[in-house]
Amino acid sequence: MTSPTRPAEPIAWPAGHRAAAALTFDLDAESAVLFEHPGARHRMSVMTHQSYGPLVGVERLLGVLGRHNVRATFCVPGWTALRYPDVVRSIAAAGHEIAHHGYLHEPPTGVDAAAEADALDRGLDALEAVTGVRPVGYRAPMWELSYRTPDLLADRGFLYDSSLMDADVPYELAVSGGSSLVEIPVQWALDDWEQYCYLPGISGTGLIESPAKVLEMWTLEFQALHQEGGCFVLTNHPFLSGRPSRAAALETLIERITATGDTWIAPLADLAHHVRSLDLTPRVLTPPDPMM
Ligand SMILES: [Zn+2]
Repeated sequence: MTSPTRPAEPIAWPAGHRAAAALTFDLDAESAVLFEHPGARHRMSVMTHQSYGPLVGVERLLGVLGRHNVRATFCVPGWTALRYPDVVRSIAAAGHEIAHHGYLHEPPTGVDAAAEADALDRGLDALEAVTGVRPVGYRAPMWELSYRTPDLLADRGFLYDSSLMDADVPYELAVSGGSSLVEIPVQWALDDWEQYCYLPGISGTGLIESPAKVLEMWTLEFQALHQEGGCFVLTNHPFLSGRPSRAAALETLIERITATGDTWIAPLADLAHHVRSLDLTPRVLTPPDPMM
């Protein structure tokens, strides 16, 4: 019987910091809906619900981040970058990181190996063409990493992924050939989709949470992770959290994080470079065997 993989080890954050936090924004725009529901391209209202992100939400969120001198990571599907090149360039120009988020938001577990590799390559080409910079980070659409994804990322020179959920801190993930990929874990409770998204027939139940409740739950999770020296990774979508009262709640959360005085707030790439410098032993993750 194979023994379970060992847990991630605690991280020593840069001097003076007890914990870390990353604010991440997945700029899906229309792509997330178009991949799952191609016919929705004819639903004008649904398309505008999604385009609100790049057209309105991004500018408001850039204002929030700028007021607090916080650099964030924007995970962008290649298709979105080609549709909204000026918006993506404005994000990069403001000093934020652009990471890879598929081409048309294809979850790696929902396509075959060839299609997964193709989406990675097309996304890389699109982001590089629009920003002039090759991304070092990847986040799987729907956080649905396949067991083959880490090798595909390493083959293409990626430094990190941010899609897995088995730790409160980043770690090194072993890939074929003896190298590794930094993994920066996420969790569904720190995603605004579950709180705010309602698209009839596409996503959500119709219940849309109050930003006051969301601020409370994210604050509680941040405070507990901060106590433990963990890594708070928040995932927001500009089409959701770019709405006024939600952006205001996010600004309050940033003020609370900053007020600790000892939380390192950084883009995912900076966190990944730090983790890489620690020379951690990579963890080996394999699919569980249901027959053992
Ligand atoms: Zn997404």
